[in-house]
Amino acid sequence: MTRAIIVHGGAWDIPPELHAEHLAGCRAAAATGWAILEAGGPALEAAEAAIRVMEDHPVFDAGRGSHLNADGVVELDAGMMDGRTLRAGAVAAVKRVANPITLARNVLYQSEHVFLTGEGAERFAAETGVPLCDPADLVVERERRLWEARRRTEHGGQTGFGAADTVGAVALDAEGNLAVGNSTGGTFYKHPGRVGDTPLIGCGFYADNLMGAAACTGWGEQIMKTVLAKTAVDQIALLGSATDAANVAIAYFRHRVNGLGGVICLSPEGQIGFAHSTPYLAHAYRSEGMPGVVAALKKQGAD
Ligand code: ASP
Repeated sequence: MTRAIIVHGGAWDIPPELHAEHLAGCRAAAATGWAILEAGGPALEAAEAAIRVMEDHPVFDAGRGSHLNADGVVELDAGMMDGRTLRAGAVAAVKRVANPITLARNVLYQSEHVFLTGEGAERFAAETGVPLCDPADLVVERERRLWEARRRTEHGGQTGFGAADTVGAVALDAEGNLAVGNSTGGTFYKHPGRVGDTPLIGCGFYADNLMGAAACTGWGEQIMKTVLAKTAVDQIALLGSATDAANVAIAYFRHRVNGLGGVICLSPEGQIGFAHSTPYLAHAYRSEGMPGVVAALKKQGAD
């Protein structure tokens, strides 16, 4: 079976001074996930480990370093899905968990439920051994400054759609099992309690061994309306090509809602696909037969 992993580190117009860190973070994440796959580990573990690397890297809008909401607080969302069983686990609006992807994994494996939010999700973290942190530990100076600047120019009521660098991973293991995960701090200056596509099954992520797996990043309000991850997976099953599926899903997304975002995906055979309508999509991948990880920040129209 062809093992493969692809990760994303967000879309949007990633500022040039952050390009090197995005590439390095995506590369390290894909290499971490690949090492697990290469050693015969499961896809779900590879995807979780890859995402943890990016949650721990402050350049991404996930875990520590995430965007602040309108109250100046980090609120995190994450989700995972197992393509073999279709089991899924997701959490939203957690403020005291530095690695929400691990909490989502615990929901997947250890809960009778699929989705937990806020305080209840944090209580589940404590019950299942996921460390709780001080919310202030998740805030970095770069984001604090952006928030202060936005607050100074606040004329009331606008929603921020600043650059966000959500992270995600799609993996295929030697047993032929697909898995996917996504983690984010959401959009900049979001309304407290706002949840985007990232932790929503079918919108931000989807995995089915029989059809394929995909993870999305971009403007969550648009991604939700087009159920973009499941749309991409359906296209893999229809077209038999991960590249074509990613392109068709993003073309539909643009056409239908003028969508801004990106998708990464894998076919059940381990073909890699990615496409985006934003200026950049930070991503990295490796599959069987490749000598190492390839990382890129593809410019729109560059291929
Ligand atoms: N999709 C994320 C959200 O809307 C943000 C992003 O991927 O850039 O929360």
